[in-house]
Amino acid sequence: MSERYSRQVLFSGIGPHGQEKLKASHVLIIGAGALGAANSEVLVRAGIGKLTIVDRDYVEESNLQRQQLYTEQDVHKKYPKAAAAKRHLEEINSEAEIHAFVMDAVPQSLELILQDVDLIIDAADNFETRLMVNDLAHKHKIPWIYGACVGSFGMSFTILPGKTPCLNCLLRTIPMQGINCDTAGIIGPAVQMTVAHQTAEALKILVGDWDAVRTTFVSFDLWNSQYQSIKAGRAKRDDCLTCGSDAVYPYLQAENTTKTAVLCGRETVQVRPPALVQLELKQLAGSLNAQGYDVKANPYLVSAENDGERIVVFKDGRALIHGTKDVVYAKSLYQKLLG
Ligand SMILES: [Zn+2]
Repeated sequence: MSERYSRQVLFSGIGPHGQEKLKASHVLIIGAGALGAANSEVLVRAGIGKLTIVDRDYVEESNLQRQQLYTEQDVHKKYPKAAAAKRHLEEINSEAEIHAFVMDAVPQSLELILQDVDLIIDAADNFETRLMVNDLAHKHKIPWIYGACVGSFGMSFTILPGKTPCLNCLLRTIPMQGINCDTAGIIGPAVQMTVAHQTAEALKILVGDWDAVRTTFVSFDLWNSQYQSIKAGRAKRDDCLTCGSDAVYPYLQAENTTKTAVLCGRETVQVRPPALVQLELKQLAGSLNAQGYDVKANPYLVSAENDGERIVVFKDGRALIHGTKDVVYAKSLYQKLLG
């Protein structure tokens, strides 16, 4: 074995056998924001063989304070986070196989990439996505690690289908909805601490050290020096629609996946096309330019700005309408420009 992982192999929890297991593993990370960037870096440095990362957004200046994989160049080029992450991760570890998807995390797309996934890491920024991941993980019996942070606060829980309570069960007993990214801001250490909990669990699961896997729901507030670890085993409910005996996976139903959404913590609305499309971005850039828009483009997206209106359109036809939370206005602008 190369020198590269020598310090990790020395650690008794991993050893040479564990290192081989890491190399043979495939991890799916949902989201390439602060949690996704840091989770993916730790795991790729640790030597996982294959990583798939899914994200719908692109890198902006306000991300640099805590989203550790990204650079000013990524901001300047308006690179999608998944694509930028792939590039940086390949620079860090050329042996890792990295797959990046610039798309919405919706069940129809995710089911196609789940076949050989050993573990899912939650790095999403909203509960709708997490509940969908919870359903997917249970349907396909894949462990997943919940993580969330805001302000100086963070939390994590390891969910093993068939063993632990699921996110749906937990929501009934542990108050988690209070966590959102709207107004509280966030400091980097809250991200790092959440990621430390998630990646430590990930390593245990990937090497198969099931006895070491944490069974409690952990939460902390770094600014106020508080740390909590709550026993969660009794939260499991047999009538749960995701993990109970009559599971129906409610969040995988088509009507629960919204087409238009206000993005977490931002004056931005995402509009999705009614059907799958692949846009000809050059043509779109030309047409927006002719309509008086100031246009910037890269192989993944077109960004157009005019009179305070700012819209970013991706290859898959999704658009982010910035500067508004008004869904009706966003849809009408989308119709006008892409109709
Ligand atoms: Zn459940």
